[in-house]
Amino acid sequence: MFERKGQLFILSGPSGAGKGSIVKEILTRREDLFLSISATSRTPRKGEVEQGSYVFLTREEFENNIRKSNFLEWAEIYGNLYGTPKEPVFKALEEGKNIILEIDYQGALQVKRVYADAIFVFVLPPSLEELRQRVINRNSETEESLETRYYSALEEIHYLERYDYFIINDILEDSVNKLDAIITAECCRVDRDILSLIRSNHWKPKE
Ligand code: 5GP
Repeated sequence: MFERKGQLFILSGPSGAGKGSIVKEILTRREDLFLSISATSRTPRKGEVEQGSYVFLTREEFENNIRKSNFLEWAEIYGNLYGTPKEPVFKALEEGKNIILEIDYQGALQVKRVYADAIFVFVLPPSLEELRQRVINRNSETEESLETRYYSALEEIHYLERYDYFIINDILEDSVNKLDAIITAECCRVDRDILSLIRSNHWKPKE
């Protein structure tokens, strides 16, 4: 067996596009894929602490981490701070694990600047009406944040052109199949890593 560095995948898309459900499902399918747990300054929703969805920090703690450059990327979204802890991501990639980040477009653009090898996937809702319904169906938001989230979602869609792949999330099963296919294909790409392996002794016939 030869060792290869892990691949970094970024999944973004507007609130209500269904990124969370896709990620949850793909993680049950692929043993070679791991989710990066983000830090946030927002207050936990019901059940989130137990599920380990985020590392919950105070705003002050979060800002301290920014100062210490502990984040691969971070962004302020709806008045709360969200960020990807840098260390565990790079460590896992070095160990050959594939990592997925579920982050917004501001964070994705930062990752693009510092880690060009990442693969960027954008999840779209099947229609704007469906998006609106999905945002409304999330009981955890207040009326005001529903509107904010809907309009931010519309804006966020403009960033699609900066991504490598898109998935229209109509039927969850199909969307997960697509992401699965993207991950498999990207892990089979010919890149500098694999070329240096081929030129090394790995495939030399035994004397
Ligand atoms: P929520 O508060 O609904 O869990 O997440 C709000 C938004 O923050 C979602 O679009 C989600 O993808 C994004 N998000 C979650 N974690 C991170 C992160 O570490 N960095 C960035 N930039 N966005 C994040």
